[in-house]
Amino acid sequence: MPRGLTQMSEGGGGKSKQNAGFKRVMLYDDGESSKLRFLTDADEMYFDWFHKYADPGDKWPTKRRICLRSALNAPCEDCDNELPSVYEWMAWVYVYTQNLGKAGDGRTPVTVGRRTYYQENCNEVRLMRYASFHKASVKAQYERLSTLLDYEFEWIRQGGEKDNKVSYVLERGD
Ligand SMILES: [Zn+2]
Repeated sequence: MPRGLTQMSEGGGGKSKQNAGFKRVMLYDDGESSKLRFLTDADEMYFDWFHKYADPGDKWPTKRRICLRSALNAPCEDCDNELPSVYEWMAWVYVYTQNLGKAGDGRTPVTVGRRTYYQENCNEVRLMRYASFHKASVKAQYERLSTLLDYEFEWIRQGGEKDNKVSYVLERGD
């Protein structure tokens, strides 16, 4: 995949695409997985403190606002209001498919070992955003391979929806 802004051509001007937003890599239940490729290498991943908040009608505070005090050493209203914060890292990935536990539109049943999952074709760029304690296996693969960019991986969730201990494992996918 092409990389480096200085290598980018001037083409593509004129037509602008409406930005429809982007999705996150989200796994909900034990054994669910994403087959993906990293577009951001581990040494370029962004991390910082983010305040958690919910929009009206949201069940959980899943939204994030960067902590201005941490990122820019600037006054932070959310800190003043004692809004809880989390330490998270982010990476852009290209997701090929996801194996999810629940059937859904356009999902095809697949058997992995003893279990049946429902495979969704994603084929799009998504954002990985996880708390710092989920970085261990990403860091381990990076140290072993010296880059994450040249390989396919499976990002696998361990722990069900109601487990309070959830972890993620990054395995080579090919
Ligand atoms: Zn803050």
